Amino acid sequence: MAKILVVEDEPKIARFVELELMHEGYEVDKVDNGRAAVDAALSHDYDLILLDILLPQLNGMEVLRRIRREKDVPVILLTARDAVMDKVAGLDAGADDYITKPFAIEELLARIRVALKRREANAAANASESAAVSEELDPNRHILQAKGVTLDVERHEVMAQGEPVELTNREFEVLKALMENLNIVMTRERLAQLACGYDFVGETNIIDVYIRHLRSKIDDRYNIKLITTVRGVGYVIREG
Ligand code: CA
Repeated sequence: MAKILVVEDEPKIARFVELELMHEGYEVDKVDNGRAAVDAALSHDYDLILLDILLPQLNGMEVLRRIRREKDVPVILLTARDAVMDKVAGLDAGADDYITKPFAIEELLARIRVALKRREANAAANASESAAVSEELDPNRHILQAKGVTLDVERHEVMAQGEPVELTNREFEVLKALMENLNIVMTRERLAQLACGYDFVGETNIIDVYIRHLRSKIDDRYNIKLITTVRGVGYVIREG
């Protein structure tokens, strides 16, 4: 049974979310301020954390940064409507997803299922990866290339002009989707499905955020024009 930490200082919302999660069979702890959130997150092994941003004592963004220094537990942010900067800053700081208040409980539950499933998939991938390390390198390893950028699917590594590029999981998945589909224009919806899971229910404009991150980490730094925007449709990597 997955264990979830709910960090929310509005008692009614916290109680409502707690009851709904318990009804779904999750084990739930809840705290109502930022310091208690950091303490709880670092002293327990939660499967997922729901984190409000406006909190007493420490705000959610700072809580997220402190948790991320030590743990890669999935974090879903609870943000105010139209707080675009919060969403972007949150994703930058390592949040896995966000949901805008007020939210429908079904949507929150769907996001939680996606985040937990992704965590399981990552754990399985890491396990098979470490099992494979001792073996000979497979000459047919899955390596994608375009415009001086290489992406090693099995090793989860990206190089630009021979230098390693640090990407978050989601950035990696978006880039992989584009590199696997060279010259094919990918819609935001398709990229969101490929990068965030087939049952992705969030807003697809977060794809624009990942594209922006990829451009600043690759295009700008290495002076490559890797990803092309196709107005009104989506994104493509054109090659050849
Ligand atoms: Ca709050």
